Amino acid sequence: MNSFIPYGRQDISPQDIDAVVEVLRSDWITQGPAIPRFEQAVAEYCGVKYAVAVTSATAALHIACLAADLGSGDILWTSPNTFVASANCGLYCGAEVDFVDIDRRTYNLSIEELECKLERSNQIEKLPKIVIPVHFSGQSCQMDRIADLAQKYGFQVIEDASHAIGASYQEKPVGSCQFSDMTVFSFHPVKIITTGEGGMVLTNREDLYEKLIRLRTHGITRNPNFMTEESHGGWYYQQLELGFNYRMTDIQAALGASQMQRLDEFVTRRRFLAKRYDELLQDLPLTLPWQHPDTESSWHLYVIRLKLDKICKTHRQVFEELRQAGIGVNLHYIPVHTQPYYQELGFKWEDFPQSEQYYREAISIPLYAGLTLEEQDRVVRALREVIA
Ligand SMILES: *Cc1c(COP(=O)(O)O)cnc(C)c1O
Repeated sequence: MNSFIPYGRQDISPQDIDAVVEVLRSDWITQGPAIPRFEQAVAEYCGVKYAVAVTSATAALHIACLAADLGSGDILWTSPNTFVASANCGLYCGAEVDFVDIDRRTYNLSIEELECKLERSNQIEKLPKIVIPVHFSGQSCQMDRIADLAQKYGFQVIEDASHAIGASYQEKPVGSCQFSDMTVFSFHPVKIITTGEGGMVLTNREDLYEKLIRLRTHGITRNPNFMTEESHGGWYYQQLELGFNYRMTDIQAALGASQMQRLDEFVTRRRFLAKRYDELLQDLPLTLPWQHPDTESSWHLYVIRLKLDKICKTHRQVFEELRQAGIGVNLHYIPVHTQPYYQELGFKWEDFPQSEQYYREAISIPLYAGLTLEEQDRVVRALREVIA
């Protein structure tokens, strides 16, 4: 009996488990020493000054937008080919959300589309305050071009790098924030490293860092430099703005710090498996992932596109037959603007045609560090049988 192969899953070692158990036996299970340890490990890896661990990438995107002063009357742009969280964060802040259609080769937001849309929006004075490029599947967007446009049109850049810890762009780690104000990571179990649930915001800007740590804890500060009056005593704190409880626990952070030690091993394995798929699938009627020469992907996802004119089945048939064969295929992503909630805001099908064309042909096939060669061969065999 063949077991089900998921499209992604965590890889937990005995050392990871020991790290968590150690916290459970210690004095702190939240807000103890594991949080700064995990934050420092990520910041050092990425070559960035500051890192703020939170409960999820969704929370990270939310406080990143607030730290960038996004509010009602402002506009946020992102890619339609993403998880809804990359757009929802704008709505949480009362801002208006819009999208930039994707590049037909990388499936990231298209720089040409972004440039045209900025020019048009400038004329009608509807420029975005924030643009969130999403590094789809672990491949960085063209950040140098985005940074140039940010300068020219005066918007801030938050990288949604939920897929891309361990990836690099122009030989620097994603997360260095060389071309952005902030970068966000996700530590959900299907992502590259995990804390169960968890996320992080990275930045080189001290002003943003100070805001982010306050927003993570109700907008509260204990730093006398930020207080509006002299401290009343050792117990004293002040709430300066409206924040949240978005704190990660030490239990999670210990797992994250332990997983960080294996990040390079995970990404090396994912790159190896992706290259192997490239070779094993090259003769099939599929479009395989294309990589921009400036990028080295972390390979969160391996997405194939069906050449439907050369396959005598529908996209849906191929998908369902693979599932029936025990292959946990998935589809990343349903274009966000086509979700009923976004349709109610005024978006409609055909607004972002590249993302919709992509959606009609794309399938994510299993890829994770613990995928064995035998399992990968089974995926390839199943694909051959289904689309033959
Ligand atoms: C997973 C993901 C998120 C949300 O991450 P959570 O940690 O689950 O909140 C946001 N953006 C993208 C692109 C993602 O893949």
